[in-house]
Parts: sequence; C-alpha cells; structure tokens
Amino acid sequence: MGNRFQVTDRFADGAQYIGGRLRAGTSGQEHSVIDPATGESVYTYALASTADVDEAVAAAKAAFPGWAGATPGERSDALHRFAAVLAERAEDFARVESLQCGKPLKLTTEFDVPGTVDNAAFFAGAARHLQGQSAAEYSGDHTSYIRREPIGVVGSIAPWNYPLQMAAWKILPAVAAGNTIVLKPAELTPLTSLMFAQAATDAGIPDGVINIVNGAGRTVGEHLVGHPDVVMTSFTGSTPVGKRVAEIATATVKRLHLELGGKAPFVVFDDADLEAAAHGAVAASLINSGQDCTAATRAYVQRPLFDAFVARVAELMETVRIGDPFAPTTDLGPLISHVHRDRVAGFVERARGYATVVTGGEAPGGDLKDGAYYRPTLITGAAQDSEVVQSEIFGPVLVALPFDSDDEGIRLANDTPYGLAASAWSRDVYRANRATREIKAGCVWVNDHIPIISEMPHGGTKASGYGKDMSAYSFEEYTQVKHVMYDNTAVAAKDWHRTIFGDR
Ligand code: NAD
Repeated sequence: MGNRFQVTDRFADGAQYIGGRLRAGTSGQEHSVIDPATGESVYTYALASTADVDEAVAAAKAAFPGWAGATPGERSDALHRFAAVLAERAEDFARVESLQCGKPLKLTTEFDVPGTVDNAAFFAGAARHLQGQSAAEYSGDHTSYIRREPIGVVGSIAPWNYPLQMAAWKILPAVAAGNTIVLKPAELTPLTSLMFAQAATDAGIPDGVINIVNGAGRTVGEHLVGHPDVVMTSFTGSTPVGKRVAEIATATVKRLHLELGGKAPFVVFDDADLEAAAHGAVAASLINSGQDCTAATRAYVQRPLFDAFVARVAELMETVRIGDPFAPTTDLGPLISHVHRDRVAGFVERARGYATVVTGGEAPGGDLKDGAYYRPTLITGAAQDSEVVQSEIFGPVLVALPFDSDDEGIRLANDTPYGLAASAWSRDVYRANRATREIKAGCVWVNDHIPIISEMPHGGTKASGYGKDMSAYSFEEYTQVKHVMYDNTAVAAKDWHRTIFGDR
C-alpha cells in the first residue's frame, strides 16, 4: 500500500517542477503525503525553499518572451495536444488524485479528471478568441484599437480539496493567454499538479512555461506572492489566508484574484419537488466529503416542507456507503487528514450544546478506524448566528433550518459573510427568478446544486473573494487590455493643444 502507483519511484527526483524537470526542494524540511484512508505515508519529499521559488520564477520569466510571442494558433495547438495527453492518462490521474486526497475513485474518474481534460480543451479554443472593442475613429481624429496582451509571470496558489482541478483552473487560462506560471499547490497534495506539468511538457509546451513549487504557505507561498517578477497572483484557499495574500500582493501592486471560502445556502420553497430537493441536498452537501467551497451547507426549508425534508435527508444520508476510496461501491471517502477530520468533529461536538444532531456526528469505527472518516451529518435547531450556520466547516455536515416567508428565506440565505454559491428550489419560475436576482453569490443554481462547466465562470463575492476561474472571463483576467491610439490628422498644432497653450 505504501507505494501505491509507484509514486515514490515516479517522483524519486523530487517534488519541484522547474524549467521542465523534476528536482528536489532545498529547504532542508520534509513533508509526507499521507493516504487519508489509511493514515499511511505514501511519499516523502523535500519542501521548496524561497531560493527554489526564485529559480522557478526565473525559469518562467525566461520562458515568457517565447511563449507570449507564439501565435494564438500555436498556443491553441499545444493546449489541444495537452488535452489529448491528459485524456490518455486519465486513469493514472484519477488513481493518484484518489490516493492523495481520499476521494472515491468514481468521483475522480467521473468529475475531477474529465473536468480537467475538458478545461484544457476549452482553453485551447479560448486561446484563439481574443476579444475587444472594434477599431474605430471614436474621437474623429484618431484610430483607436485594443490589444489584449499576456501580462507576464503569474504566481498562483492552490488548496488541497481539488488539487488537479485547481492546477487546471490556475494554469490553463494563464498559459492560453500567453503568460508563464509558477503554481504552489497545497503541501498535502503535491502529486497531480506535478503530473499535470509533466503532461504539459510531454505535449510540447516549452520548458519554464509551467513550474510547480511544493512548499510551505507561510514561507514559499508568501515569497511567491511578494516576488517582484510576478505580475499577478491567483489564490484559491481560505478567507483568512486570502486576506494575508491580499496584503502582500497590494504592497507589491499586483493584479489579484481571490477564490476564497464559502457557506452555500440551499433554499427550498414550499412548492419545490421535495424528493428532488432531498436528493440534491445529500449529493451537494457530501460531494468530496463536503470539502467543496460550493457545497450545500445551510438548507433553508419553507416550514410546510421542513419536517419531511429533514426526515428524507436523514434517511438518504444513512444510505451513503463510506469506505475505501478505491472500492467501486464507495460513495464517501475520508476527509483530507485526521487533523481536519477532528476540526470538523469539533464543530459538531460544540453544536450538540445548542442544536440537534439528527444523524451522523461521529467517525465510523471498525475497518475504517485508521482513516480520517466522518459520517454524513445533519443538524437542526441551530440559531442563525451560531457557529455551525456562520462558519465554513468544510466537511460532510449539513444544517437545516426552517423559514416562513420568501423574504425571510432570501434574507437568511444572504446572512453570512460569504457569497460563493447558492441554490433555489421551486417550481414557480417567478419565485426562482427572484431568488437568482436577490441571493448574493457568484453562482445561483435553480433545482440543482454543484454542477460546473468549462464555459461558465466560477468565483464569488463578499468574503468569498473576487475574480473568475474557468470560462472566457477567466481567460480575460490573465490578459492586459491596451488601448492603442493613432493620430490621423498629421497636424502639428492639434486642436486640443489650445487647452494647454495658445488660442484657437
Ligand atoms: P488554505 O488557505 O489553508 O491554504 C491554501 C493554500 O495557501 C495552500 O497552498 C497553502 O499552503 C497556502 N498558504 C497558506 N498560508 C499562506 C500564506 N501565508 N501565504 C501564501 N500562501 C499560503 O486553504 P486549504 O485549507 O488548503 O483549502 C480549503 C479552503 O479553500 C476552504 O476555505 C475553501 O473554501 C477554499 N476553496 C475555495 C475555492 C473557490 O473557488 N472559492 C475552491 C476550493 C477551495
């Protein structure tokens, strides 16, 4: 088990990918990747130092002129080849992602990996679609046009919950637009980001365009964000760390993109299809063991449906099969680590003092006792201002609360600091449409909760941050819009000069 999928052999040269090759970090500190299903170490690597970051940024800077100078068509061709290599290696990616994260293989096989391949194919297309206003004589005396240019070396930081998809979301729009990048994945989950960069090299993307540094957040992460040769930072992670990243990025005047925490509401109006809402709530609260920034965490259910909803969700949660991520029948794997599992359990234990745990609320024992598992958990009776309603738990925990009027449901949905995602459940198009307008979130689903798609943006508002991943919106964020203005008069004393000197 210790060396499943030969990860130790495969990354024997180290866990840093700089200038197109793997090498060891030079911090003198080591970190182990732990299989959260067993608690066993599967790979130990040397963490990056700040000097390694400098080298990675230098490699990205050296690669920038050539990559930025490639035609959109050439970059598009390279990304199409990249998508093909990712698709060929889909099974390998799915297995290693399941190993390092504890995700059920059916999730990595049907969601993480195909989503990543589709993202690569999407950005291969996007590379050829540079959008801007038409060139025209807007002033009368000049021709104005827009150039959309790559901006330089991007420094990005990713979390552990979807390491492969986060690498894809950060790297693909940046390189499609002609930038080069240094990505720092989370220390817990370095492996699939390295494999992603290797696949890019094998697809013919030049050395130095994509670099991966695996190091500690406080040292290597902060050094990357503050690096003078990095022009943009794209960060996905928790809101407290995002605030720190913002401080450093602001001090060095960087373009900044923050994808932070969430506490998504799931609003069920009294005309909703109860069975659909209950199924949706179970799937959307348990996806990736609830370690999903858009996961349904607060179900507000209009009073006539509340009791039936709670009963049905509890019943369905109890059918969810917890187990070995590699077993085909497993629905729910472990959480990312024992430390994180204990943190999730802490929220539930404290909630027992002020709310009711309807189902779950414990770690399974038996064969699963060594893994970081936690049962699907449903809580009712919590006050709106309580910790389980307001704080991001990031585990398989759903809180259900009743509401009376539509106004109240929407008000409660908006009553947290976060604004990443939400859903509204109703068969009344006017009610649902009102909810989509009035709920403050980067995405509002109607009669569903979770699906994402390459063509549509992902990103939040309020304490969930700003900026978009995926879609043409994200591609645009990785470009610099430049206005070019040509004088068409060839006149020395131009009319507008009289505002500075002389008369008409
Ligand atoms: P985290 O904020 O602890 O860490 C995220 C990354 O930041 C890691 O790579 C970490 O090493 C690095 N980091 C830590 N301290 C740093 C510092 N001082 N300077 C620079 N980098 C630093 O988050 P996590 O626990 O890895 O991930 C879970 C969080 O990510 C949750 O809050 C979740 O909601 C959020 N998330 C958001 C989205 C989104 O799209 N909005 C997507 C996925 C996850």
